[in-house]
Amino acid sequence: MAAPVKHRLHGFKPQIRRIILLSVLSFLFFLPFTHAKDNSRIRVLIMKDTASFKLFIKGKYEIRSLENNKLLSSGNSLSVKVSASASGINLRESFKKKALLIHPASGYFYVNNRSLRGDLIIRKEAASEKLSAINYIGLEDYVKGVLFHEISHRWPIEAIKAQAIATRTYALYHAQMNKAKPYDVSSDIYSQVYGGKDSERYRTNKAVELTRGLVLKYKGKIFPAYFHATCAGRTENADELWNINLGCLKSVDCPYCGASLHIKWDVTLTLAEIVEKLNLSGYNIGPLKDMRVLKLNDSGRVKALELISDEGQKIISGKEFRQMLDPKIIRSLKFSLDVMAGKAFFSGFGWGHGVGMCQWGAYFMAKDGYKYYTILKFYYQDAEIEDIYEAR
Ligand SMILES: [Zn+2]
Repeated sequence: MAAPVKHRLHGFKPQIRRIILLSVLSFLFFLPFTHAKDNSRIRVLIMKDTASFKLFIKGKYEIRSLENNKLLSSGNSLSVKVSASASGINLRESFKKKALLIHPASGYFYVNNRSLRGDLIIRKEAASEKLSAINYIGLEDYVKGVLFHEISHRWPIEAIKAQAIATRTYALYHAQMNKAKPYDVSSDIYSQVYGGKDSERYRTNKAVELTRGLVLKYKGKIFPAYFHATCAGRTENADELWNINLGCLKSVDCPYCGASLHIKWDVTLTLAEIVEKLNLSGYNIGPLKDMRVLKLNDSGRVKALELISDEGQKIISGKEFRQMLDPKIIRSLKFSLDVMAGKAFFSGFGWGHGVGMCQWGAYFMAKDGYKYYTILKFYYQDAEIEDIYEAR
């Protein structure tokens, strides 16, 4: 065991000793507020580019400078419209700061009537009078605010536990990647949908508590633990979609999701509608005469499509096509296509990009009696489960 700091400083003059001790103490004091070092808290973007928002705090609160954690003001009960001015941020009083940290003693507050746990970071955008509201929240509370939106709270508990671990891992991965940015994740579908305190449910909270601190690692490193609704028989290789080549995100056969509610989808679009959507997304193409699936990848998903217009033939990747048409309409890349009388008939299977855990597969595995770790190790092959709090 290392000797206490005080005893190890005997060789120094008293003045120097005091300076060293003060530096160590102030470092320890600021530690909980320096998010880059604290991997159990996460910064979730709630609002961006907003002129103002309502903030309500019941009970005691502190307002600190985010930059150096200096206490600027404190009080009891706050109900204000937060806005920005050229020189800073206005709450009850005006602060000549670019960013503030609001700490409610109760552990929760309201932004535009939305109930959130943890602290609030308010940032003024550079060179504008617009604000960002960022929820600075404990990782466990964050996962509690997400699960309800990503999975049904009525599902078997082992499936919810598997989802809690995937969600925690995915969030922590982004926190590591975005250390230098003003926030780690957004609260919409581009990260994981986060609803705050109002989204917590008994069973999803229970699953978070039962898996507290557990994350997935591959070769000792946190990875983006992707998941999707239904793979329809085989998951996707991550490197088909992104520049990620990890053994734990490789395609696996999934025999579990056949009875998923999202196993099959069909949609009919006119060729004119397809042209319009492609052009709106910046893909320039004239009126379509025909189109067809050109190539499937190893997991049976569309790799490329051929588009035939008056100008000739163009090839578009499946990924780009789905993104441009709308992933909610083209639910997956596992589809076949027929064109007749100016219309394209899509007949597809599954829902989502297909990478990582198949949620409906996890649901049926849990129903069959499999535990969360078996589910996770099935979809994230060769991944390990570790407790981040114990590892510290
Ligand atoms: Zn599946």
